[in-house]
Amino acid sequence: MNNITLELRKQARKLLEDQVVQLVIGYGRGSDPFRVTPVFVRHPDFVDSLIWNPFCINNLAKYLIEYRYLPGKIAVVIKGCDSRAVNRLIQDNQIERDKIVLLGVPCTGILEAEKVAKTTGYQLELERCSEQEEKFTLHTSSGDFSFAAKDSLITKCYSCYNHNPVVFDIMLGPAAKENPAAVKYSEVESLEKLNVKEKSEYWDMYFSRCLRCYACRNVCTACTCQECIFNQAKPAWVDRINNLSNNTSFHLIRAFHVAGRCVDCGECDRVCPVNIPLRHLNQKILKDLQELYDAPIPGADLETGPALGCFVTEDPEEFM
Ligand code: SF4
Ligand code: SF4
Ligand code: SF4
Repeated sequence: MNNITLELRKQARKLLEDQVVQLVIGYGRGSDPFRVTPVFVRHPDFVDSLIWNPFCINNLAKYLIEYRYLPGKIAVVIKGCDSRAVNRLIQDNQIERDKIVLLGVPCTGILEAEKVAKTTGYQLELERCSEQEEKFTLHTSSGDFSFAAKDSLITKCYSCYNHNPVVFDIMLGPAAKENPAAVKYSEVESLEKLNVKEKSEYWDMYFSRCLRCYACRNVCTACTCQECIFNQAKPAWVDRINNLSNNTSFHLIRAFHVAGRCVDCGECDRVCPVNIPLRHLNQKILKDLQELYDAPIPGADLETGPALGCFVTEDPEEFM
């Protein structure tokens, strides 16, 4: 067990015993050694179900929307990328800052479960994880396995904006080293070099395979409308029939709805069952907003409003 897990359980127990919070939202063991699942702890006797390891990938801030009407406060475990989503939820008046206790984790990266399992297989128990210089070691029932960070992390962690939460109440460990030199938009820059026909073919190829399962929308902390336009029968903004035209409309409408509020948490990418690279779409908008309006990553602070929700007279009007 690592120090962050121990500290997390200690803090969760205290918060529940002292009745500071009614609920702690964190990570627990999943269905295989390299999978975690969100857990919801309401009693101090169950805090030992909470864990932290380099597979804790989910952005748990989304659950704050589900539990916002629960009486009392809610504690939630957040990484740097998730913390931007918390700020966005507060700015969007989805939750009050006083309602939540943020248990911040210094996070140096999440390991890609499939890559790890190719080396270790699944027939083992993950006992604990340790981290040395740029290297993660998994201590398992079948021995120790080490993975170099440079080729074992999930994609978004290579361009991490905030290894430490930008907002928190309790930090669960010493701050991680930030990496301001990380290359943020290399994949988007490659796509920008394609001509119009090639871009169209690229997205047609992906959008034609979309199942319209709406997992990308459901997991997104920027998607908070109680009634989503894609669920409306009258008017039906996008037809229910699954085809390239409707799927393209769905994706472009959703991308514009989260424009200026997408915190680049990558959750939409993660949950897509057919591996559509939605992050490329949302990152392109993020990049344009930064270049046009010098907008920070949404959620980076509580003071800066969404680029498309604010007006300043210095804004460029190139289309006029
Ligand atoms: S993007 Fe940063 S904070 Fe988020 S999981 Fe990766 S390393 Fe951790
Ligand atoms: S998660 Fe993937 S398949 Fe489902 S609606 Fe989103 S893009 Fe389509
Ligand atoms: S659009 Fe995707 S990357 Fe952006 S906030 Fe929503 S889930 Fe996260």
